[in-house]
Amino acid sequence: MTGKLLEVKNLKKYFPIKGGIFRRVVNHVKAVDGVSFSLEAGKTLGLVGESGCGKSTLGRSVLRLQLPTEGQVLFEGKDVLGQSHSEMKALRRDMQIIFQDPFASLNPRMTIHSILREPLDTHRLGTPSSRDQKILEIMDIVGLRKQVLNRYPHEFSGGQRQRIGIARALVLGPKLIVADEPVSALDVSVQSQVLNLISDLQERLGVSFLFIAHDLAVVQHVSHDVGVMYLGKLVEKAESSDLYREPKHPYTQALLSAIPVPDPTKVPDRIELKGDVPSPINPPNGCSFHTRCPFAKDICREVVPQQKDLGSSSEHLVSCHLY
Ligand code: SF4
Repeated sequence: MTGKLLEVKNLKKYFPIKGGIFRRVVNHVKAVDGVSFSLEAGKTLGLVGESGCGKSTLGRSVLRLQLPTEGQVLFEGKDVLGQSHSEMKALRRDMQIIFQDPFASLNPRMTIHSILREPLDTHRLGTPSSRDQKILEIMDIVGLRKQVLNRYPHEFSGGQRQRIGIARALVLGPKLIVADEPVSALDVSVQSQVLNLISDLQERLGVSFLFIAHDLAVVQHVSHDVGVMYLGKLVEKAESSDLYREPKHPYTQALLSAIPVPDPTKVPDRIELKGDVPSPINPPNGCSFHTRCPFAKDICREVVPQQKDLGSSSEHLVSCHLY
């Protein structure tokens, strides 16, 4: 299946900051600041950036778990932000989320069976017996034995808990899953098992993923396209192979240079970024990366770079004055 499943247009999410004795709005945290992208059905878009760059807020805004300040989200052409409560409930079947911390996101008082049964009962999918059959199918797909159905989340390891989180997201048969840093709370040895599972699900079930991570190495093998965010903006987006082979934006180049190289004889040309990420309350003028960019020139301090498509055979979007 091809075609645009998700289109995000100029999405903004500003959180108000209140101050003074009248608790007036004195400023805003610009967590997401004018992001646009699209995701094809059956594909995975990896979204990467340092902590606080707005990627998780973007994921939640796409699902309307947080109401965006401005912009548009279209899911199969439907305006997600304009849906009524009941329309949104129907849409939630198709749009699910996997959380970063599987332990915190699973109710400790519910058995695995109840956790997986709840969404099926809420959406009244099938008959009661077919719901249990569906649970067994999903358990099998994510690699959990049916004997564990009556156990509680605390009885599982981190990796198994994330499998339960994935099973819960899958049980309604969604078309899109927002995976919000699904492996960053797991041991490195377990990370690759969960990544392989996600990649397998994507191929077997044709589910699209918006895969959020803070590390380019993590999304490399599961993403068809990769987007890089900095201070609430999408600074580069391209097909995964293009972006890793020929990163254009200095920030992407710096992130890639920080990935350890397995060959000890090779010394990577590491690009050190100076200073911390500026505050999203008062982002720098012009290009918001100019305070840390080794190539910054005068224009970068004054003019916001427009997004350009530098791709020849496929789209390669970059926002930088070097191009
Ligand atoms: Fe660096 Fe200027 Fe490009 Fe921003 S616009 S990334 S400061 S060169």
